[in-house]
Order: sequence, then C-alpha cells, then structure tokens
Amino acid sequence: MTASDSQPTGTGAEPTGLLIIGASQSGVQLAISLRALGFEEPITLLGEENHRPYQRPALSKEWLQGEVGNESLIFRSNEYWDEHDVTLVKDERITEIRKNPDGSGVAIAESGAEFPFQRLALTVGARARKLAIDGGDLAGVVYLRNADDALALKAIVGSATDVVVVGGGFIGLEAASSLKKMGKNVVVLEAGPRLVGRAVGEETAQFFLDAHRARGLDIRLGAKITRFAGSDGAVSGVELEGGTVLPAQIVLVGIGVVPNTELAEQMGLAVDNGIVVDQHALASDGTTVAVGDCANMPNPVPGSPAGERIRLESVNNAIEHAKVAAYSLMGRREDYAGIPWFWSNQADLKLQIAGLSMGFDATVVRRDDERGKFSVLYYRAGRIIAADCVNAPLDFMAVKNALAKGQNIPADAVQAAAPDVQLKTLAVPLAAAPA
Ligand SMILES: Cc1cc2nc3c(=O)[nH]c(=O)nc-3n(C[C@H](O)[C@H](O)[C@H](O)COP(=O)(O)OP(=O)(O)OC[C@H]3O[C@@H](n4cnc5c(N)ncnc54)[C@H](O)[C@@H]3O)c2cc1C
Repeated sequence: MTASDSQPTGTGAEPTGLLIIGASQSGVQLAISLRALGFEEPITLLGEENHRPYQRPALSKEWLQGEVGNESLIFRSNEYWDEHDVTLVKDERITEIRKNPDGSGVAIAESGAEFPFQRLALTVGARARKLAIDGGDLAGVVYLRNADDALALKAIVGSATDVVVVGGGFIGLEAASSLKKMGKNVVVLEAGPRLVGRAVGEETAQFFLDAHRARGLDIRLGAKITRFAGSDGAVSGVELEGGTVLPAQIVLVGIGVVPNTELAEQMGLAVDNGIVVDQHALASDGTTVAVGDCANMPNPVPGSPAGERIRLESVNNAIEHAKVAAYSLMGRREDYAGIPWFWSNQADLKLQIAGLSMGFDATVVRRDDERGKFSVLYYRAGRIIAADCVNAPLDFMAVKNALAKGQNIPADAVQAAAPDVQLKTLAVPLAAAPA
C-alpha cells in the first residue's frame, strides 16, 4: 500500500491499529509524534479532502498572493508516509462510528467504506461558519477554510476589481490585506464595534484598525448587511442597512468557525463548544483522543485557574496538543508542554501572541511608533498572562519565556521602562510579583 492510495485498509477485517479521522495539522502531527515515540501499530490517517495533507495558514497570505506554490503547503512527501508506515486515505468522509466499550470499533464513510480500528483519534477540526443571508448562495460568495475554498477564490480573483470582506477577524484581515496588495478595491465589513473581537483586547483591536486604515484599507465597524445583490446568478454587491450598495464581484465571508463535533455527539461523547477532553487529550469515554481546533481542553497555561477551559484555533496548539495525545495513546500521561502562541501576518504587521489573555484584569501598552513596534501585556491579579506583539519579536519572546519559566514581568516596571528597554531584563521570579 502506498501513501497515495485512497482505498480503505482492513475493510471487513478485525479491528486493528489507530484510525485518525482528519488529515490536517493535528492529525499529521499525531501520526508523526506517535512514530517518533515508537508506536508500532498500523496508523491510518484519513481525511475527507481530496488533497494530500497541507498547511492552511498561507491560504490567506503568501499562497493567495502567489508568493508560494501548492507544493510548499504539503506537510510531508508520500515517501515519508510510506517509510513511516502511515496509510493515507483521502476523499473519504466519515459519517458514522460504531464503537465498542474497549475503544475498538469501525468508522463508516459516506461512500460505504468501513475502517475498523483498535483506537480512535478525532482530529476533525472546524468548518467555516456560514452566513445565512439573502444572496448568500450567489456565485462569487466564498469562504476560506480549506484548499478547495482557496482554489475557488483564486479562480475568480483575477477578473475581480472590487472585493468585500465580511468579518474583521484574523482570516478576514489577512485576506483583505493580501487582496489589497494584489490591487483590488477592498472593503472590510465588521458587524461588531471593533476588529478581532474574540481574540485580542481593546488596545490591540484599535491599533489594527488605525494601522489598516493608515495603509488604505476601507474598514467599516458596526456594519449591518441586509443582502448580497446579484445579477445572472453572480454576486454584484453588498447592500447595507439604509440602502447603500457596495460593488463586489467577490464577497469573502470570514465570520469564524464551528467545531466539527457531530461524530463525537453521535458517539455520546461530552461536547461543549468542541469535544470535551481532559488535560491528556482524552475524551469523556476515556479512550478516544480529540485534538486541535475540534477540542475543548483545560487551559494549558501553568498557574491558570482550575476548571478553566478553552478551545484554541492555532497551528501551535494543534502541534502541542497532538503531542499530548500521542503520549496518551502510548499509555503515558504528559502535560501540555510550552506556552500557547499564535501568529497572524497582515500586510507589514506581524502579530505574535504569547499566552492566553482570557480573564485579564489589567493591560500595559508599550509602543515605539518610530520603529513601528506595538505590544499589549495582559495581567491577571498582578501576574502577566499574555502579550500581543506587533513587529516586536523580542517582546513576544520575553513574555513567552517568562510564562514558561513561571516568571512575572511586573506592570509597574514595564510602565516605568523606556520602549527600548528589553522586556526580558524586567522579568522576575513570581514570588517577587505584587500580590
Ligand atoms: C486561511 C487560514 C489561515 C490561518 N492562519 C493561521 C495563522 O497564521 N496562524 C495560526 O496559528 N493558525 C492559522 N490558521 C489556523 C490553523 O490552520 C488551524 O488552527 C489548524 O489547521 C487546525 O488544525 P486541525 O487539524 O485541528 O483542524 P483542521 O485544519 O480544521 O483539519 C481538520 C480536518 O478534518 C477533516 N474532517 C472533518 N470531519 C471529517 C470527517 N467526518 N471525515 C473525514 N475528514 C473530516 C477536515 O476536512 C479537515 O481536513 C489558519 C487557518 C486558515 C483556514
């Protein structure tokens, strides 16, 4: 069997090996980590997409702009999977799982193919949230979650002059910046009162609003869309409350994602904004692992309040969470290593986020306009918990390292420091932090 085969293995056979459903960042990392740990059972890495497993981040950035090609997105060569005895199955969508109490079972695909397993991993990720609106099914209304979405966008981008991006989150702003760079007239419509509502605080949101507007991006907050207008089945504009119609040959909707929890629900697993897992990536049945964008896990930042949970959507989390799950499948119990981090590149603005800002009660802004650097440090009960750093990699590294070492970077010390004082020099052991 070669990696490029797409036929099920073991159909009709006894349950055998590990079945990983979802062949993307988490599933790929899980297979790689398991082989690195010496897992000897067969591994089947199965996905519904008809592509070799690929990385998503460039789809809204370098790939969309034509700076990198398709091949550079592929995680590993077919030879790699063959050498590591991982069977890749493409283009099979699992619709049902029959599981035995011992953890074994069979997954049944839409095609009717059956995939028996001894152990199961759900790395099913998330899908684009759809906008239910009049005109939402017109040609030219697109989403950007997977390669097919991206290919569909690329196929029409050449003939478009006007693009409306619905949603001022990371994906919307990345794509808007790319499309602007490609010479399109771009308008970003955000329904909320600020950009990137869910992921960053007020100061970072305002920084991005000002920075994008200064770079010529037309961003409208509090936008109320009434319908997408069309002619001959294709979108021609976006109508706003009050009757204004913005011309658009492409409408890119980026309003967040929905975790794929249907299989878990059907299996009777606990689900709550994602598949609920413990700190070892084990679902509520105690045998299935769930990893990455689809999983709701305990906050992995050391020192975070007991019982606090989070579902993260990032490459770093997919990788680190998969490593935890790999240990669990090997019968070991390891905690999430490292501090969650995230990046987003928008035009020349390179955002890096260290830690998780949820529950923050104070912030300190550190900016150096001359050098184009901007950071927001987040605190909870006097202790640093996260930082958003734009074009400030040293700030990012300093906070990430401090969090990993259990250190604090006291807010008053940062306030007193000049912007060119390196944050790492202000880090102190936690015991010395203000109460
Ligand atoms: C355009 C874009 C840009 C991004 N940029 C960044 C960035 O700059 N930085 C960053 O940290 N993160 C970024 N991300 C997020 C990052 O890509 C995700 O966090 C990551 O892909 C999550 O990996 P995952 O494997 O958990 O889930 P996914 O990548 O969603 O993969 C899940 C896979 O499972 C498959 N699947 C689902 N259900 C079934 C089923 N029933 N049967 C078979 N297969 C199934 C899906 O088709 C999919 O291929 C970006 C995402 C997108 C879309």
